[in-house]
Amino acid sequence: MFIEPKKDNGWIEVISGPMFSGKTEELIRRVKEAMTNGLSVATFKPAIDNRYHEEKITSHNGNNILAIPIERPGLIWDHYQDQNIVAVDEAQFFGPELVGVVNALADHQVRVLIAGLDMDFMARPFGSLPELLARAEHITKLHAICHRCGAKATYTFKLAQNDKIVEIGERNLYQALCRSCYNSAMLNDRKAGPK
Ligand code: ADP
Ligand code: MG
Ligand code: ZN
Repeated sequence: MFIEPKKDNGWIEVISGPMFSGKTEELIRRVKEAMTNGLSVATFKPAIDNRYHEEKITSHNGNNILAIPIERPGLIWDHYQDQNIVAVDEAQFFGPELVGVVNALADHQVRVLIAGLDMDFMARPFGSLPELLARAEHITKLHAICHRCGAKATYTFKLAQNDKIVEIGERNLYQALCRSCYNSAMLNDRKAGPK
């Protein structure tokens, strides 16, 4: 009997959720696991995210791996050297160009690992994430712990009274909140806005 060889498929996997939900930690865990397994990985991050270290991805509890900062997704091609896996952290900061690159990689047997915020602080779908979520084979939605009540948090609330969607910050600027705490915070602190 002829048994067809298993196809060596590429795919897209997305890790999403609010700030502090452990997206970077989970991305680092998957990258390290793959490397232990002998697979090669190229990891990227937007050049805009320089909170910790220029050439590293660092989680809120200090775990880190090397990453190449790029200004736009097309630059992935300048660094890609047939690695088995391409990982991108903070993918929400990239626009639609990322979707084409990611699809092309997955079509060529690359496992593409994406982490990013699914919503901005106004609870609107953020950057390339909605499209990537629609096209991904595997999706993991993580939750943080609500800063105000301890429930599962899915929203990122911005403490600063400005409307800049892209502003790099930590707990001084953002809180992870559950639905009801987010709604009250938006009403009380920001007079509500789009959701
Ligand atoms: P993300 O990439 O989603 O912003 P990280 O992976 O960088 O998250 O950090 C997750 C870590 O942040 C947790 O393991 C925990 O140590 C810490 N942390 C700080 N605030 C919170 C919170 N409100 N809920 C959950 N974890 C938090
Ligand atoms: Mg992160
Ligand atoms: Zn809450």
